[in-house]
Amino acid sequence: MVLEKLSDSLRSTLQKIAKSLFVDESLINELTKDIQRALLQADVNVKLVFDLTEKIKKRALGEEAPKELTKKEQLISIVYEELANFLGKEQNKIDKIGAREKPFKIMLVGLFGSGKTTTAGKLAKFYTKRGYKTALVGLDIHRPAAMEQIEQVANSAGTAVFLDKKIKEPTDIWDKFYDEYKNFDILVIDTAGRDALSKDLINEIEEVNKKIAPNEVLLVISADIGQAAQKQAEQFHKSCGITGIIVSKMDGTAKGGGALTACAVSGAPIRFMGIGEKIDDLEQFNPQGFVGRLLGMGDLEALLEKAKDVIKVEDAEDLGKRFLKGEFNLIDLYEQMTAMSKMGPLSQIVEMVPGFSQLKLPKEMLQVQEGKLKKWKIAMESFNRKELEDPEIVDSSRIERISKGSGINVQEIRGLLKQYKQSKKVVKMFKGSKGDISKFMKKLGGKLPVGG
Ligand code: GDP
Ligand code: MG
Repeated sequence: MVLEKLSDSLRSTLQKIAKSLFVDESLINELTKDIQRALLQADVNVKLVFDLTEKIKKRALGEEAPKELTKKEQLISIVYEELANFLGKEQNKIDKIGAREKPFKIMLVGLFGSGKTTTAGKLAKFYTKRGYKTALVGLDIHRPAAMEQIEQVANSAGTAVFLDKKIKEPTDIWDKFYDEYKNFDILVIDTAGRDALSKDLINEIEEVNKKIAPNEVLLVISADIGQAAQKQAEQFHKSCGITGIIVSKMDGTAKGGGALTACAVSGAPIRFMGIGEKIDDLEQFNPQGFVGRLLGMGDLEALLEKAKDVIKVEDAEDLGKRFLKGEFNLIDLYEQMTAMSKMGPLSQIVEMVPGFSQLKLPKEMLQVQEGKLKKWKIAMESFNRKELEDPEIVDSSRIERISKGSGINVQEIRGLLKQYKQSKKVVKMFKGSKGDISKFMKKLGGKLPVGG
């Protein structure tokens, strides 16, 4: 994950709280110092850091713990809330474009090398995966190889691209293909950059802006410039009317914390993060989810996002909804495991599920091998409908029957049922906490759902 070092320090700080005997002023002081150190190491601006920790301290000392939380839990949830606020307000997502005017136009602006063209391709792929008919428009007339680059990018995204290597005015390129745009749901428009936000660049963006009237103007900014992102974001915000920010290159820089917080104070919301050079290396940014993951609380939404990319969107949504409602039977378990085995190593996936990272899951649960899945599937074919929907009724004599019918030994079938019960317990907790992380954590603190 990005900002691994920051995440590690924050996690160990929270562990310290969890392990302490009681919450008093000296613990709160220590906590504040730890958080300061962690954030400063991640290049976050000193004044911002002190403002933040001052707020945490004031709330921790001044507020009564709500009835359903212990003092420790309250402290953790204050840290979580304040860090999330620090990174921006909950925002409208732009992954569901809805029935707005067609096409929905997203224009990317930014300096040379910030990652505009690469990000344009990632966005085109992001929306295509979600079922939108998307095309790229290349308006960078300055860089010699810009048009070839966007052609390549469109190729990897598998989308159409509109460009003209000969035309020297971006607005003329736009006009040339105007009649074709109505055939698309979304246009992602790549523009030219400069070394700095010069008069020349501002004029060009203004002109293009006036002509295209984009629905979103997103500034692409590289995370490796750290705190300098603030000035850049503010300047672009003031002179080009940006509606949001994409922070690229979050992978491989320790300065990402500086860049994110610097952007958050600019007033324009952070929409996405670039986390690598490849076409799929893009994540939607949501302050709560992001901080939750930094703190090791997991991010169910990100998990569902990932599931969407691998399995069909409707399937993922359905699975997610049923999961949250606690309606969960053996068929779901099977589907969930097949989906997860497609998503990559399970150990990586569970990090994103709230609470899972704190549970000591047995190794076998994390490595559901192909072989096991196959056997389970065969066994399931010998379950009758009622048993599949309500596995609780499967007693020893039924196991015996299923084993004979399927040729899968009793041990395997018991293993399958055990796995089901464990998953069901976690699912129940999700349901009970209604997506509220602090409540969910409280439940987790009680009885761990595995091992028994
Ligand atoms: P532009 O000049 O703004 O269009 O920037 P480009 O899209 O050409 O990107 C400049 C360089 O940054 C290229 O080498 C990209 O591969 C790289 N890049 C873009 N986004 C990311 C990212 O999220 N992570 C990493 N590691 N590299 C990126
Ligand atoms: Mg470019």
